[in-house]
Amino acid sequence: MKEKSSGKIRAMQMAAKYLKLTGGFPIRNIYGGVGQILMFHRVIPENNRERIWSNSYLEVTTGYFEKVIQYYKKHNFEFLSLDELASKGFSLKKKFVAFTFDDGFKDNFYHALPLMRKYDVPFSLYLTTDFPDHKSILWWNTVEDVILKNHKLSFEWFGAPMQFHCSSPDEKNETFGAIHSLIQEGTQLTIRERALMFCQIFGVDPYGSIKELALSWDEVRQLSKDNLVAIGAHSVSHPVLSQLSDEDSFNEISQSKLRIEKEIGMKVSHFSYPFGGKKEASPREYEFARKCNFETAVTTVSASVMKSHQTKLLQLPRIAVGMSMQEDTFDLLRFGVIQMMRSNGTVSF
Ligand SMILES: [Zn+2]
Repeated sequence: MKEKSSGKIRAMQMAAKYLKLTGGFPIRNIYGGVGQILMFHRVIPENNRERIWSNSYLEVTTGYFEKVIQYYKKHNFEFLSLDELASKGFSLKKKFVAFTFDDGFKDNFYHALPLMRKYDVPFSLYLTTDFPDHKSILWWNTVEDVILKNHKLSFEWFGAPMQFHCSSPDEKNETFGAIHSLIQEGTQLTIRERALMFCQIFGVDPYGSIKELALSWDEVRQLSKDNLVAIGAHSVSHPVLSQLSDEDSFNEISQSKLRIEKEIGMKVSHFSYPFGGKKEASPREYEFARKCNFETAVTTVSASVMKSHQTKLLQLPRIAVGMSMQEDTFDLLRFGVIQMMRSNGTVSF
C-alpha cells in the first residue's frame, strides 16, 4: 500500500477518529462486512540486513505480525479457519478474521507457526507445488542480491548495452525497478527465460533462492498435521491463470490439489488464485475451482467478506497486510472506510 506520502491517508485518519466517536454507523455496517481474510507471504525475524525497500513488500517481521494478531484479539474478532468460515462465518454475532499465507515459504513454519500457537490462531497455507519441488525462480531476490553487492552494473540485454549506477539506497531502488521491468515486462522470450538469462549473466544459481526459502515436503507434512493449519493449493507453477488455455489453466488448479493430497495424505479443500486480481482469475477459473471440488477459493480483491459471499465461496476477497499498515489503517479497515474508498474509486490501492 502506498500510504507514506498521501494526503488521502491523513483524511482517512481524520475519518477514523470521527468514526471511532460515532461508532462508524452506517459505513461499518455496509462496508465492514461480516469479516476479513488477511493475506501474508513471509514472516521473518527482526534483522538489520540491508534491503531494497521495494522488494520487501511481501515480508512482515515477527514483532509486527504479533501486533496484528493482538489487534484482532483486542477488538474481539472471532479467529476462524477457512473450514469454519464456510460453515459458520456468515451467521456469527461477532466479526471474524481468517489468516492466510501464500506460496509456501519456510519461515511460515519457523516464525509464523510459533506465534499462531501462542495465540491459538488457525491459518491456511496455500502452496505452489513448484516451491517444495524447487522449480520456482525467485528472480526478484536474485536481482536484489546482485544490486546490493555492486555499485555499478554493466551488461548486455538482447544485444543492447545496459548500465546502472547503484551506490546509494535510492540508486539501488531505482535500478531494482528498472531491472524488474526488463524481466517482468520484456517482450522477447518468456518471463522465466528472461529471469534465467539474468541469472546466467551474473553467474547466479537460479534455484538457489528457492532452495533456501521454500518449505520442504517434509515440513509441509509436519504443518498439515497441526490442528491449527489447513494446507491449501496455489497452483503448480504460479502462472497468470487467465492467460492460459482452458486445459492448462484447469491442470494448474487440479494438479496442485492432487499433488498436495498425495504428499500429505489429506483432502485439500481450499485454493488461492495466483496473483488473484480480477484480471488474473476470471469466472472461468472460479468454475474450474468448483469442478475440482474446492470448498473455498480466495482472490486478492481487497475488500471485507460480505454476507453475499456466502453464495460466492470460490471468489472470496482478501486484504494484503504490509508493514506500512499501522493501527490507524487497521481501524479504517475495521470500520470499512478503506473498503468504501476503494469501491467508489477514491483510492486505488
Ligand atoms: Zn502467490
